[in-house]
Amino acid sequence: MSEAGLPEIARWVAAAGPLDITVLTGAGISTESGIPDFRGPRGLWTTDPSSQRLFDYDAYVNDPQVRRAAWQLRRVHPAWTAEPNAGHRAVAALEESGRLRAVITQNIDGLHQRAGNCPEHVLEIHGSLHAVECLRCARRAPTADVLARLEAGEEDPNCAACGGTLKVATISFGQALRSDVLDAAIDAATGCALFLALGTSLTVQPAASLVALAARSGARLVIMNAEPTPYDDLADAVVRGPIGEGLPQIVPSPPAGRDPGRDRWRPSRQSAG
Ligand code: NAD
Repeated sequence: MSEAGLPEIARWVAAAGPLDITVLTGAGISTESGIPDFRGPRGLWTTDPSSQRLFDYDAYVNDPQVRRAAWQLRRVHPAWTAEPNAGHRAVAALEESGRLRAVITQNIDGLHQRAGNCPEHVLEIHGSLHAVECLRCARRAPTADVLARLEAGEEDPNCAACGGTLKVATISFGQALRSDVLDAAIDAATGCALFLALGTSLTVQPAASLVALAARSGARLVIMNAEPTPYDDLADAVVRGPIGEGLPQIVPSPPAGRDPGRDRWRPSRQSAG
């Protein structure tokens, strides 16, 4: 389905009941905030395939050169200055409307929370750039603390408590997902009536398989992505345009005069996370 399907998708969204909608997002929802994706035409790996090694867990653990390069990449990550865009704000508006069960995100940039989604409803299945953890003692700290050490000249900072290897709290290739977060994502995928997959190539597992899980569990499936995905045939609607243009058109506007900070019209709910 093309742009012509947006009014119909908007009707599906409007007809959804409380907590009926689960959203899965990928790097494509943040490109309009200036954060490149991996596999799109201007993606990090499309333009520099050798950078993939910096996201490999074994390489990171065993090769100090990889760690030094990875920290330099983190130091200048565009997420530190990026602002949420119209797509993130539309996902936050879905939560404001009471229809959102959870946002499952593959992104590590924290922009859904910045746009107004409650942190406990954002399932960061690939972790977060905003925290670091020690691979030996599991102590966590804000990434900002380590960035300050990098600015002061350290190249491969170690854990201040035990001297172990530090890594941003993101899931690298070869690293296990957190089972509690994955379980919550599976619940959100199987328990929804409408599943929106936004800005993801749907090539990273197990995240991509949540789409099939939702469809098999009876959810209506909408895929919004600039390029084809392996799951397009399964979808009830496929939208190709930019998310920042398409998504706001399918999310109902909040009631006029409502103060989003105080006058919440979300029903009470249990945490999805
Ligand atoms: P991906 O790079 O594999 O795919 C992104 C998809 O989004 C591409 O198919 C691209 O065509 C599409 N796209 C880009 N901009 C778009 C737009 N404005 N509108 C519609 N579609 C658009 O990304 P993925 O599927 O999320 O998987 C890759 C991994 O990359 C994830 O594990 C994620 O953790 C990581 N990642 C995250 C960020 C971030 O946090 N912002 C950035 C880069 C990579």
